[in-house]
Order: sequence, then structure tokens, then C-alpha cells
Amino acid sequence: MSSPSSLQLSVVIPVFNEELNLPTLFTRLYPVLDALGQRYEVIFTNDGSQDRSIELLREQYAKRPDVTRVIDFNANYGQHMAIMAAFERVRGEVILTLDADLQNPPEEIPKLLEKIAAGSDYVGGYRLERQDSFFRTYASRLVNYVREHTTSIKMTDQGCMLRAYRRPIIEAIVRSGAINTFIPALAYSFASNPTEVGVKHEERHAGVSNYSFYQLIRLNFDLITGFSLAPLQYFTMFAMLCSAGSFLLVLVLAYYRLFLGDDTKGVFTLFGILFFLVSVTMVGIGLIGEYVGRTYQVVRARQRYFVKEILETKP
Ligand code: UDP
Ligand code: MG
Repeated sequence: MSSPSSLQLSVVIPVFNEELNLPTLFTRLYPVLDALGQRYEVIFTNDGSQDRSIELLREQYAKRPDVTRVIDFNANYGQHMAIMAAFERVRGEVILTLDADLQNPPEEIPKLLEKIAAGSDYVGGYRLERQDSFFRTYASRLVNYVREHTTSIKMTDQGCMLRAYRRPIIEAIVRSGAINTFIPALAYSFASNPTEVGVKHEERHAGVSNYSFYQLIRLNFDLITGFSLAPLQYFTMFAMLCSAGSFLLVLVLAYYRLFLGDDTKGVFTLFGILFFLVSVTMVGIGLIGEYVGRTYQVVRARQRYFVKEILETKP
């Protein structure tokens, strides 16, 4: 991470196949930032795009080399890694993240900065009138609920990436060397004065969401297992209840067999119970695997991403 300088603001934007959105993003974002009257930089991470995104980023860099930096990954490592790579290099005192698809209107940036100026070290945006599919909206409500009850992270809208942080929080995130971690939640755990602000939400300007249903499940699973042991603990509780129940059942069946001489009764019930217990065990093994997997990734400490090239001018 670069040492603090006189830059006031760093805007971090992950880019994956956004050729249709980048031109509009550039024409809307830069005027907003210029109007702030602060010294700023915009860091784009090209996350292994397969379209013309990198060419467009190069052109933009050529146009505004004073305030633009581009990190070019060799492959696709996901939105959070793209943001991490930029975090490791930011020069500003305040760091703001934004999506490239214009779902978070750049015009809302000053709102977040006002909250920072008012003394917050973490400002999370939440989407007013969310413009996503019915399914996405409700799925994320459910996930919010589960997260609130399993971790101590309070967030109205975890899916909103328009967020601003003070530099010490970003430094803490970089030091923690998080792997696959959900950045807003990690930042929240380091914040001492977090606040939220409602921001407009637009439909994706062009293209389709990069997240499939499966990836959303993965992301949320990651979020919960990355921040809490609650799933393991609940599972243990449940397993204890199950074993107490099956022990009682064994007593009942033994009574039938020994004292009433009834041998056939309950054989199928027994099968039912057995299947149930076996599946519970399988869920448990999967859950443990999840934690072991995370431990493995941390222990292995492999390079998390590979930067092919960086376009920037020295400060
Ligand atoms: N993104 C990325 N790498 C990926 C997927 C997405 O850098 O593997 C970027 C994408 O270009 C966008 C942001 O992350 O700037 C959010 O992605 P998207 O709009 O697809 O997610 P959604 O808004 O549907 O949650
Ligand atoms: Mg989007």
C-alpha cells in the first residue's frame, strides 16, 4: 500500500466485461469528481475482461493520466479481489468503491463524502427503490436476515457497492490479507463510527449481471462462514438434540422388542430415522469442509492475483 499523500479521494472501480458501460461511466463520473474541488484519483481494475474494456481503459488513461490509474489482471479473480488490488495501491485519505455498470449513479458520490466529512469512518450506501429483478431483491432480503442473525454485522443493504471508507480502515483490510472476503462486511468490523446513506439505484446501464445464482449463493455462504462460527455451533446443537432423540427411540424400540416381543414394528420407521441422521451427518461434514477449505486457503498463502500491467503516473 502506498504511503499517504496529499490526495484526498481514491475512487476504486472493478471492471469485468463492461465495454458498453465504460464510455457513459467516464462521461458521468469525471465531471462529478472534478466538481468536488478535491485532489482525487480513479483506480480501475480490469478483472480479466474478454471484451474491449482494457482498450477503453487505456484510452481513458491517455486522456486523464493525472487522475486515472489502471490495474490489469491476467485473469478473472472476481469483484472483491479486483477491489483488494486497488486497495493495496490507493493514495487517497478517503476511499470510495463504485460499480462500473452505473447501477450506483456517480452523482450520488457527494452524499457519501458529506457523511465522511461529518466524522464517519465508514459510509455504506443502501439502495432506495432497488432496480433489480423481483427474485434478486427478495433473495437478498433473506440473506440480510440470515447475516444479521449469525454475525454482528449490521447493514441495510449488503449488495450495494457504493461505499466510502477512511484510509485506516482500508489499511486494516489490506493488512488482514483477506481471502475471498466480502469487503463491506470486513470494513464494517473495523469501523468505529459507521453510518449509512440512501442512494439512488438504476438498472444496469447495459450488459447483464456477472453474478449467477450459484455465485450469489457462494458469496453469501462465504460471508457467513467468513465472519462467524454460528453455522457450526447451530449444527452441533442440532446434532445433540438429534442424538438425544435417537437415544430415546432406542429405548422405546428395545422395550417393544424385549417385553412385547414385537419385532417387525418400526423397521421402516427406523430406516426413515437412519436416512435422516445420515443426511444430517452429511450436511455437517460439508459444513466442516467449508471451514477447513478456508483454513487451507489461508495456510497455503498463495498469491491471490496476478497483475499483468499497471498504468499510472508517479505521484
Ligand atoms: N465485476 C468484476 N469481476 C467479476 C464480476 C464483476 O470486477 O468477476 C465487477 C463488474 O464489472 C461491476 C461490479 O463488479 O463493476 C458488479 O458486478 P455486477 O454488476 O455484475 O454485479 P451485480 O450488480 O449484478 O451485483
Ligand atoms: Mg451491477
